[in-house]
Amino acid sequence: MPTRFSLKKFHPSILLIFYFLTTTVSFLQADAHIFVYHRFGDSRHPSTNTSLAELRKEFNYFKNNGYKVVKLETLVDALKEGKDIPDNWVVLTIDDNFKSFYTKGYPIFKEFGYPFTIFLYLEATAKKYKDYTSFAQLRKMNSLASFEFHSYGHKHMASMSEKAIRADFDKGLALFEKELNVRPKYFVYPYGEYNEKLERISKEYGFEAIFNQNMGAVSKGTNIFDIDRSALVGKPKLKTYLNFDELQNYELLEPKAFPKNGILTRVKAKVDKNAKKAYVYIRGHGWRPVKVKDGIIDYKTSKKIKGKRMKVGIQVGTKLKVKVFMKD
Ligand SMILES: [Zn+2]
Repeated sequence: MPTRFSLKKFHPSILLIFYFLTTTVSFLQADAHIFVYHRFGDSRHPSTNTSLAELRKEFNYFKNNGYKVVKLETLVDALKEGKDIPDNWVVLTIDDNFKSFYTKGYPIFKEFGYPFTIFLYLEATAKKYKDYTSFAQLRKMNSLASFEFHSYGHKHMASMSEKAIRADFDKGLALFEKELNVRPKYFVYPYGEYNEKLERISKEYGFEAIFNQNMGAVSKGTNIFDIDRSALVGKPKLKTYLNFDELQNYELLEPKAFPKNGILTRVKAKVDKNAKKAYVYIRGHGWRPVKVKDGIIDYKTSKKIKGKRMKVGIQVGTKLKVKVFMKD
């Protein structure tokens, strides 16, 4: 991570050692971070809102701490080409084309000159739902803006039939091209929820990259069809998110699916052999410290999973990976 402190009082040889230490560390792993916003300056919906004061604070933090806000395309292209990912890269995305972005958020993005990508929920704009941006307003945005696909109807697509998923894509993509004169390249699952069927159909439609809504980071080995984004809504912990790295050489052995009886009994994962301590996260139950033995975490529990989605995460040091499982 870019850190700032004065080096003037150190002897040059110490500085040289310091230089090698820091460059070695960043050589080992560098991670960019993608953030997702929804509404701006709209206190009616606190769980999806970012206040304008908070937005300014975040942008000033990027500006004053050596972060570079790059286009989503820049990051995806670097991943596709297998390039090293600079750890000062930040990408800003906005889901759901709410009007509050156009009226309140967008002026601040312009002031800082930060590029952004809006993932469009097309039905809301087509049917002129209150609170949503119009196609005319989208077309009026300057070159900082790029637009990508977030479905036509914004339904829980993982639980839809194959026929219904294809019908949504066909309708949404045709409308997207008609109104914005461009074919979208990237896709965000509505609610960040997906399963194998939805992932397979999305790839068939030719999307070059797919994004979820799990806290995390992006590094050289990131799966381009399952890219993590951290949400900067409510009371976000920006500095914590920026310090997350992607957990590598990692495999979630259990669970493999949403438990049939709704009770999660075991979280088993393969992590770094040298790790001694880790944390297991289960949505609705928080983080638990666990021991690592010979690179294996084996956490036995009995946790009732409320609702249709189960989120399980593993953290080792600053490295993190979260996965979502949907009830069928
Ligand atoms: Zn959405």
